[in-house]
Amino acid sequence: MADMRNDPVAVIGLGRFGTALALELVRRGTEVLAIDHRPKVVQSLAGQITHIATADATDPEALRQLGLPDFYRAVCAIGSDLEASILASSLLVELEIEDIWAKAVSRQHGRILSRIGVQHVVFPEHDMGERVAHLVSGRMLDYLEVDENFVLVKTLPPKEYVGTPLGESSLRRKYGVTVVAVKRPGEEFTYATAETELGYGDVIIVSGRTDQVERFAELP
Ligand code: ADP
Repeated sequence: MADMRNDPVAVIGLGRFGTALALELVRRGTEVLAIDHRPKVVQSLAGQITHIATADATDPEALRQLGLPDFYRAVCAIGSDLEASILASSLLVELEIEDIWAKAVSRQHGRILSRIGVQHVVFPEHDMGERVAHLVSGRMLDYLEVDENFVLVKTLPPKEYVGTPLGESSLRRKYGVTVVAVKRPGEEFTYATAETELGYGDVIIVSGRTDQVERFAELP
């Protein structure tokens, strides 16, 4: 299969999420067709997104006229209007767009979207809430769930691991976590090796199972 990363993407619904998504895709050089039924929103973004149209995404004819059937990827970024989200997403499925993403505002909403054939359901608010909870409550500086129950976390080295080469620290055996990269004060991130000794003021990237990384990040 050809590399689809640079194929155009249709973004439906230009609320906060859809707008941020569309603008970031444009910034990264991806061609975007953005659709919203509010003319004001479309007008205000017209200079920043090349293909942008005022249309009702629950109208199959409107989507056909905009050329949606030719798209390989589409994102339904309508959230709060559940009916519109479900109708628009099911039209994307009917149009046989291969790679469909949709935003859900609740678990039930997500389940319905999956059931009608949306391959990628995302929960931006829920996920961001979880992420911020980790940042607010602990020593973590950043938190990324890369898969269910597997995370990458930016944090500070616990005291007891400062000054010991990672290869001798038995971190993996004791905590099940791996230190992937280290950033010395004023320097850039570099890969960690068995010889790397962590220092005070370093920032580290740790990977592992969510519960194990959480336990590690709570060490003093
Ligand atoms: P956010 O929380 O990211 O701001 P919203 O769900 O509030 O997301 O925004 C959804 C966007 O989708 C709004 O800009 C709204 O005008 C648009 N929208 C809602 N229904 C339709 C529809 N049937 N056709 C096209 N756009 C729609």
